[in-house]
Amino acid sequence: MKIKELEIFAIRLPLIDPFIISYHTYDDMPSIIVKLTTEDGLIGYGEAVADEHVTGETWEATYALLKNTLAPLLIGENPMEFERLHEKMNKAVYQAPAAKAALDIACYDVVGKKLGVPVYQLLGGRYHEKFPITHVLSIGTPEAMAAEAESRMKEGYSSFKMKVGTEVQADVKRIQAVREKVGKDIAIRVDVNQGWKNSANTITAMRQLEHLGLDWLEQPVVADDFNGMVEVKAKTSTPLMMDEGLKGFRDMRELIEKQAAHKVNIKLMKCGGIYPAMKLAHMAEMAGIECQIGSMVESSIGSAAGFHVAFSKKAFTSVELTGPLKFSKDIGNLHYDVPFIQLNERPGLGVDVDESVLHDLTVYQTKVSGV
Ligand SMILES: [Mg+2]
Repeated sequence: MKIKELEIFAIRLPLIDPFIISYHTYDDMPSIIVKLTTEDGLIGYGEAVADEHVTGETWEATYALLKNTLAPLLIGENPMEFERLHEKMNKAVYQAPAAKAALDIACYDVVGKKLGVPVYQLLGGRYHEKFPITHVLSIGTPEAMAAEAESRMKEGYSSFKMKVGTEVQADVKRIQAVREKVGKDIAIRVDVNQGWKNSANTITAMRQLEHLGLDWLEQPVVADDFNGMVEVKAKTSTPLMMDEGLKGFRDMRELIEKQAAHKVNIKLMKCGGIYPAMKLAHMAEMAGIECQIGSMVESSIGSAAGFHVAFSKKAFTSVELTGPLKFSKDIGNLHYDVPFIQLNERPGLGVDVDESVLHDLTVYQTKVSGV
């Protein structure tokens, strides 16, 4: 099996409501879709959602890098040879994990289709039967966040992820308001997205929040401040998760050496796709660290890829891949049984792409094929 052609679509996915986190407000999500065609006519899809705040990649740069450098490298290659393909990409380009993830995911999709098995069967087989879906609360007033949580509880959600990270005391009020509204039996995790900046601010906040029984606190300090994470972990009792600080293997090594977090949020867009995500999960598992799969708010394609990883590994104890639930239009049909997700048993990612929607959402596109 050889890769014959790669089409690259720069799309914008329309959001139902703006997505507001500490460092940005999104009205729509810019994404890149890769369509891989093999010589025997099989098709696989991949996705890159670049986040300049996290990995330094932009939508435009990811498109250019795929078009000019990475896609041409893979033409004529066997999509089954993951170790070699990643080495080839890594030798050609340092970092750029989202761009590499798009090609990695498309290869897994097409290999699953070739072998007639879901992607999770390529990753060790299904371990989890289903995961609960956590509803993400965008940053708003304490009253608005509490009201949103209350209305989602009525839909069956029993777990919330609060986005905070603007100003410490305002955030404390937000978290207190949601806890008061939903009661003590509902799970709440808090993602600060680096917004409390340092350990001093974080410890100040947590002194007021420790008794609220939060599931965990995610990335309160700036991404590179591993020592800050170590200090917060030592001086507070709420479990601590690293997200933006943990991208690839080097970060995981430092995290393990310093014991800088109890949990890690692995994202295909931060580490370069399914194949490196599995390596990170193995590293974490050996160090006794729990894993979550998260996303950059991706379509059905990127989200399904994340789910296949999560479903195949015991080390993954939570998932946050709710992109498709946030879009008013999606290119694929990944199915959620809110408030749970189960994966189907269809080959590859198990997602059908609606090409007419793909073309509707496309801003620009290109095709790379054999020379
Ligand atoms: Mg996060």
